[in-house]
Amino acid sequence: MVELIVDYIRVLMFFLREANPVFVGSIVFVFGAVFGSFINVLNYRLPLEMDVVFKPSFCPKCKRNIKWYHNIPIISYLYLGGKCAYCRESIAIGYFLIELLTAFSFLAFYLLYGVTWDFIVLCLFFIISLPVLIIDFRYHIIPDELSIGGAVVGLFLGFVHTFIGFDNNTNITISMIDSIWGVVVGLLIFGGIYVSSLLVFRKEGMGLGDVKFAATIGAFLGSSPSIVAFLLSFLYGSFLGLIIMIFKRLKNMKKIKTISHLKNLNISSDYVSSIVMVYVYQNQVDELRSSYIAFGPYMVLGAWTSIFFAHEMIGFFVGEII
Ligand SMILES: [Zn+2]
Repeated sequence: MVELIVDYIRVLMFFLREANPVFVGSIVFVFGAVFGSFINVLNYRLPLEMDVVFKPSFCPKCKRNIKWYHNIPIISYLYLGGKCAYCRESIAIGYFLIELLTAFSFLAFYLLYGVTWDFIVLCLFFIISLPVLIIDFRYHIIPDELSIGGAVVGLFLGFVHTFIGFDNNTNITISMIDSIWGVVVGLLIFGGIYVSSLLVFRKEGMGLGDVKFAATIGAFLGSSPSIVAFLLSFLYGSFLGLIIMIFKRLKNMKKIKTISHLKNLNISSDYVSSIVMVYVYQNQVDELRSSYIAFGPYMVLGAWTSIFFAHEMIGFFVGEII
C-alpha cells in the first residue's frame, strides 16, 4: 500500500517536471489560492477553538453558510465586491490578501525549486507559519494544532526524506536525525529562557506556545539553521520592539500636547484633570497589555530569513572566524 502511494507520487512528480512550466505554474498558483483560503479558516477558527475541517464556511455576520460558488478563492472576493452575498456585510480585505499572498508565495517556491521535495516542505511550512504569525499577533497565543502539530509534520517530512527519499539533491529538506536535533535545540534554547525567567523574574518571559513553536522550527529547519533563525528572531524582536515603542511615545506626545493645549484655553481645571486621569489610566492599560510581547511573529520572520540565507550566513561567519 505504502509502496503504491510512493510510486504514484514519484510518477506524478516526474510528470510535473516534464510538463510545460506555465501549465504547472498555473496549477501551483490555484493550489496556493486554495490553501490561502484554508489559512484564512485556520486564522479565524483556531483561536475560537472551532472545527477547521468539517464545519462549512459561513459569514461571521449573518452566520449563513457560504455556497461553494461564492467561496472560490481570490475570484469570489472580486466578483462579490468584498461583500457577503446574503447580508452585504463587508468581508475584510485581509482574507483576499492572504489568498493572493499564498498563491504568489507557492508560485515563487515553484520558480525557485521546481517540483521537488523542497517545494513541498516550503509550502507546508508556509501553511503552518503564516497562521502562527497572524494569530499570535492578534490574540497572543500559538495554538497547539500549529506548534505541536507543525513539529509532528516537520519530523514526518524528515522521516520520509530519510527512508523514502523522493529527491536526493535538496537544499532545504533535512534528514530525520537533523530534524530531531532541531527539535531538541529549539526546546533547549526556548525552554531554557522560559524556565530561567520564571526563576529569576518570577514571571513568564515568553509564552509556552513560543517554546513549542521553537520545536516546530527546529523540526523543519534542522539544528544549525534553526539556531540562526532564533538569533534573527531576537534581533527582529528587539529592533521592531524599539520602533513600536518609539511610535507609542510619539502617540503619547500628541496626547500630552492636546492636554497642554486645553490648559492654555483656560477650560475649567476639573475638565482638564479628568482628561489627564483618563490619559494616565489608558497609559497604564497600554503598558499592561504590552508587558507580554507576542514573540511568534518574530520567530516566523527569523525562520523564513534563515531558510533562504542561513547557509550563506553560516558560511560568512565561519569564514570570518577561520
Ligand atoms: Zn453575511
